[in-house]
Amino acid sequence: MNSYLTTLGGDLLHLIAPSLCPSCDEPIPTTLRGICETCRATLTTAPYPDEMFEGLLKHHHPDELALDAIGSLFTFEQDSPVQKIIHAIKYRGCRSLGRAMGEELGLALMAFQEFSEIDLILPVPLHKAKLRVRGYNQGEEIGIGFANAWKIPLIHFGLKRRRHTQSQTTLSAKQRLLNVSDAFAVTTTEVAGARVLLTDDVFTTGATLNACASALLTAGAHSVVAATVAWDEVSRDNHSTADWEFNF
Ligand SMILES: [Zn+2]
Repeated sequence: MNSYLTTLGGDLLHLIAPSLCPSCDEPIPTTLRGICETCRATLTTAPYPDEMFEGLLKHHHPDELALDAIGSLFTFEQDSPVQKIIHAIKYRGCRSLGRAMGEELGLALMAFQEFSEIDLILPVPLHKAKLRVRGYNQGEEIGIGFANAWKIPLIHFGLKRRRHTQSQTTLSAKQRLLNVSDAFAVTTTEVAGARVLLTDDVFTTGATLNACASALLTAGAHSVVAATVAWDEVSRDNHSTADWEFNF
């Protein structure tokens, strides 16, 4: 189906049946946002940001990290409601779900010192070919929700992907970082001196988010933190064999 129709279809479906859980397809009260209580009860809350960052430091020298902090709502698990939420946000055109999750993410991270000061939000960009096919950027929808919660600006196209990167599966950790290090370009001057938050759907290895952060620091950003709906603990624990492939 044409991507615009897919997107339109997803949102129309949401209008016609606004209270269907994206995970189990059961009706939910209109007062609930996102998913039903039964599915929500099965979700695993992501670790606190300091614990997530410590995990990242186990695999990377601090000098390799352009990110100052990371934070997520849920731990990603295969065949779980989280996977269905991410799938719905990413592939089923559920833009409003992406925004609801982004808002929840923003409210959750307000409690943490690492996220106490943010000036503006930039979503991790899709490559323009991918954006054309999908019709929207899920990271942007999450960012819009986050921006609503924080009442701070979001710059929609402040970052762009310069090129497709080669598959990362056969590369060492160092090569992987280098492989994506110049993959992004900053297209706005508004990041100069700013404390920037990046938004995306899932944090896996962090290579993509770190490359964005690196580009932002080069462009004069004061600091960069990242927030995602889910944190993929599995790929962190199996880091040496994890697929570092770019998440176009
Ligand atoms: Zn459900």
